[in-house]
Amino acid sequence: MEHFKDSILKLVIETSSNLPPDVRRAIERAITLETPGTQAALALQAIAENVDMACDTAAPICQDTGMPTFEIKTPVGANQITMKKQVKEAIAEATKLGKLRPNSVDILTNKNTGDNLGEGTPVMHFDQWENEDIEVRLLLKGGGCENKNIQYSIPCTLDNLGRADRTLDGVRKCILHAVYQAQGHGCSIGALGVSIGGDRTSGYSLAKQQLFRSLDDINPNPKLAQLESYILETANKLGIGTMGFGGKSTLIGCKIGVANRLPASYFVSVAYDCWAFRRLGVVLDSKSGKIKRWLYKDDTPAVKMAKTHGLPATGREVQLTTPISDEQIRSLRVGDVVLLNGLIHTGRDALHHHLMTHDAPVDLRGSVIYHCGPVVLKEGNKWRMNAAGPTTSSREEPYQADIIKKFGIRAVIGKGGMGARTLAALSEFGAVYLNAIGGAAQFYTKCITEVEGVDLLEFGTPEAMWHIRVKEFPAIVTMDSHGNSLHADIEKASAKELAKFAESVEF
Ligand code: SF4
Repeated sequence: MEHFKDSILKLVIETSSNLPPDVRRAIERAITLETPGTQAALALQAIAENVDMACDTAAPICQDTGMPTFEIKTPVGANQITMKKQVKEAIAEATKLGKLRPNSVDILTNKNTGDNLGEGTPVMHFDQWENEDIEVRLLLKGGGCENKNIQYSIPCTLDNLGRADRTLDGVRKCILHAVYQAQGHGCSIGALGVSIGGDRTSGYSLAKQQLFRSLDDINPNPKLAQLESYILETANKLGIGTMGFGGKSTLIGCKIGVANRLPASYFVSVAYDCWAFRRLGVVLDSKSGKIKRWLYKDDTPAVKMAKTHGLPATGREVQLTTPISDEQIRSLRVGDVVLLNGLIHTGRDALHHHLMTHDAPVDLRGSVIYHCGPVVLKEGNKWRMNAAGPTTSSREEPYQADIIKKFGIRAVIGKGGMGARTLAALSEFGAVYLNAIGGAAQFYTKCITEVEGVDLLEFGTPEAMWHIRVKEFPAIVTMDSHGNSLHADIEKASAKELAKFAESVEF
């Protein structure tokens, strides 16, 4: 098995940088559905270009390379202990190469291990099978979509849909609710892995396993096949759209598995994956460990997804350069496209928590905080960003209003939007929320002209405060300083749409 580790490294790099053909086809279908010029169409254009850029340079599609989850099937007698060790070595090497972001954080000390290894990471499930070869499947699923996973214990009552009973109709309501509650936070257009039954633990596990199915397959159980296609069609009528900007595409797939339940329990577990649905596999020769063939794809080079380069300019884009004035901010309205220039600063959960009780290491007046946990490489004395898209902003809701007030911040860039307290602070202190396209890590990396420095590196690479100079960094104003929030509007409108599907459906 001298080639096993190299084969796993190839699998990790390819999964991180190249979307499988079934996901590409689904995104392409979504692109054709959206009206050109809409915010959803702009977002999909950025996504398509990002997919091409990542593939061309073998760089991460999204900076959040997720929790590596391996499903491995081995012939009887194969040495799983050696395989585990070599999978870990391959993961550490991929991290060092900047193909994976260091994502493993000690739960008690909050220290990032720096190499993606630690208690419970990576996730590896082994199974034996009556086959000579080894099969390895890998899913890289990031935190933004992982946080939108949800589990229902039915019977229950759901907002806008009413009671969900222990029937397939009750299951239907839970799955639609799962799409609604995710809004754009999990970087829609999303895909669902669903399990009906099991216990709380096995339910979530089976739900995630469904994400290993191809988006194009058809469930062999006709009732489940019917439910899967109903969910796909109906979810796309909710008007949530790409990134929660509204539009005709919200979901690209729904895959449902079942397991027996205890008489007292009836769980519906939903694993939500984002458009950056990174899932590939390989079949390996069990003697040498060499790759015999790929799963989900063949050897044909991927076809480019973007039809044009860059976002189509309308001439109405607003150029903003830091430090930004109150007057400039007050002139912006929801829907404006902004091209940002100058020095901005990354900041996520650890930084926001820190700033509540400490001074900022740099002057932030008139400045911009970018919710981003980048993949960064050190080259000599210089740092280079290898992937730097936005992270989910709602996690900073408990802090953001106070941070805006305390430091005089004029703009927050992130994805998925923020809540009522932040919206009020934007009005009171003159700031805006700029929505960047979640997962478009390569698309945004090309707007970073220089990494000028870093503070608080002890928080780990993703959580440190990076000072970066950007040029024409595009983002959409989705919350302005006049009390308007696109996210609140879409949530309200999609709740109304959801309520139209409260009536029972028979499967
Ligand atoms: S595309 Fe969005 S949800 Fe998916 S991993 Fe990236 S940031 Fe997270």
